[in-house]
Amino acid sequence: MTNAAKLDALIAREQDRFLKLHPRSAKAWAEGRQHFLYGGPSHWMRRWAGGFPVYVEDAGGAHIRDIDGHDYVDFCLGDTGAMCGHAPEAVTQAALRQLKRGATTMLPTEDSLWVGAELSRRFGPRYWTLTTSATDANRGAIRIARMITGRPKVLVFSGCYHGGIEEAHIEIRDGRVGMRNSIHPNAVDHAAVSRIVEFNDVGGLEAALSHGDVACVLAEPLMTNFGMIPVAPGFHEALRDITRRTGTVLIIDETHTLSSGPGGYTQLYGLDPDILVAGKAIAGGIPAGLFGLSAEMAERMWKLVPFANPRQRQSAHLGIGGTLAGNALTVATMRAVLESVLTAENYEHMIANATRLAGQVRVLIANQRLPWHVTQIGARAEIMFMPEPPRNGADVIAQRNGDLEMLLHAFYMNEGILVTPFHTMLLMCPATTPGDVDRHTSVFERFIALLREAGL
Ligand code: PMP
Repeated sequence: MTNAAKLDALIAREQDRFLKLHPRSAKAWAEGRQHFLYGGPSHWMRRWAGGFPVYVEDAGGAHIRDIDGHDYVDFCLGDTGAMCGHAPEAVTQAALRQLKRGATTMLPTEDSLWVGAELSRRFGPRYWTLTTSATDANRGAIRIARMITGRPKVLVFSGCYHGGIEEAHIEIRDGRVGMRNSIHPNAVDHAAVSRIVEFNDVGGLEAALSHGDVACVLAEPLMTNFGMIPVAPGFHEALRDITRRTGTVLIIDETHTLSSGPGGYTQLYGLDPDILVAGKAIAGGIPAGLFGLSAEMAERMWKLVPFANPRQRQSAHLGIGGTLAGNALTVATMRAVLESVLTAENYEHMIANATRLAGQVRVLIANQRLPWHVTQIGARAEIMFMPEPPRNGADVIAQRNGDLEMLLHAFYMNEGILVTPFHTMLLMCPATTPGDVDRHTSVFERFIALLREAGL
């Protein structure tokens, strides 16, 4: 039997075990498919390696219980949306308080004053706008970059993901630009609106920005959506320098890298983006995102769209949606997160657990002489089935072992571990314990044994 056939057989076995372990979820999924376009209320919910998702009975802290009665240590944490942990008390109380006083009015509450000041304390002084998601925050930031520069294109790095952003749905494969993950091109002329280069490629970036038609670079500080791709020394300095020299707006998307510390990677490494974006966990699971403009960007915006004065009868419409954005509920829960949950003290605890997990897994990998590695940044760790951390998307494409990932993920679910389906990223929340980490380590050890038994 070839290795590929052995892997296939193991995946089939784990999926069969998954079906037997989860009869109620299987039934619910069959029913859901009669009413939802892709089975669940969000199309993302169909992508689990067991073959269908488990239905959640309840979630608390770092654990989820499904309707078949299984307990999971949750390292997926809603793909970062629940980095505060499930049902964190401060957020729950703030939400309940605010729900009783009105969730959404299109008027500000005084909590927003505290939130604005705290965001500037963490991420640097900026002028903030709240949105309902990180996708929306990126869309708003891109629109503003185009308004300010009058240029059409958005530059992204191959292997990126920034939400439902048409301009960013492309990748470089075998030297050619195409759609990432077989995403439908949606009648968008990507040649007209996008540019793409490999991450960490200073020369490529310089060349791509030299045409003067790029409004903004949209980048994560290090890449987290194609496995984790660390940033090369000096790349951020070069990125800032080239974008400044070419008049290109630099948008740093901290949606995932908020796991680096209280002020994200930006605060930790002193980055200086023109626009900073965050989302997901920022309001403790209540839908929210945000973007913040530097003072210089804000001045340029106010020249284009003056600060509202109803008497001027001037259109102040920004073309950015969000009726529910920045509403009282979002702001109250964001305040609770910043005041009581994503605190320096909790980050210390989360990072210690990520360090524990990365360390233990590295020992297992080294002892078995496996050609794998673990990357850790702050409270987040990633196990990758390749010997060295990738330098860019091309390295991931060349070396990734998708079948092995699928087998691991199906095995994880059968053994009570949850990770985000798309790659093996493990995230800690304040409620994650060393015992939870050790449970993962022992499951990972059994996974290695499973491969050995199969002669893989
Ligand atoms: N930016 C980054 C870096 C992300 O990873 C994601 C989602 N995975 C988004 C933006 C979009 O977030 P949302 O789907 O919550 O809008």
